[in-house]
Amino acid sequence: MIGILALQGAFQEHADALKKLSAEYKFIRNQSDLCAEFDGLILPGGESTVQRKLAKELGLLEHIKKMIEEGVPVLGTCAGLILLSKEIACGEETTFGTLPVAVCRNAYGRQLGSFSALGNVGDISDFPMRFIRAPYIEGIFSEDVEILNVLDHKITAVRYKNQIGVSFHPELTSDLRLHQMLLKI
Ligand code: GLN
Repeated sequence: MIGILALQGAFQEHADALKKLSAEYKFIRNQSDLCAEFDGLILPGGESTVQRKLAKELGLLEHIKKMIEEGVPVLGTCAGLILLSKEIACGEETTFGTLPVAVCRNAYGRQLGSFSALGNVGDISDFPMRFIRAPYIEGIFSEDVEILNVLDHKITAVRYKNQIGVSFHPELTSDLRLHQMLLKI
């Protein structure tokens, strides 16, 4: 079963993608939801500052962080990537900090706030990437971080052991290959 952090943002779209793949899921909204046994986690896009605040207030941070550190596979998309990152440009507060990368939030500026592109993500070719006020990865702190996509000289997708972080929104397209990648891990 996959746990989807469902405090804010595009969690329903991830659930819809998992449904299409006949994968079981459960929304994580409070501490009692964490009693389930999870084979994987999804951290959706949305607003990372709001998600961080809510996760902290609801007492979810430490439990989820421990699960990721213990090897539960996780897919973080857009704001979810920010929640995973070890460092955020401008010294902003981090959330789980389990992914050894530095991200820059809202990195494409206002004019390019929202755009789409097609690119390879690791072994997946021609993946439709939808960016919405997206971050990109500007620093990598471990040689075990595998770069899965670079778009216009900016890293937008990585994998580090059990963690996949992408700047874009795979759940907003009908392409299920990144969700399949999570299920495979
Ligand atoms: N700009 C958002 C943030 O900083 C991320 C945007 C998104 O998830 N689409 O959290």
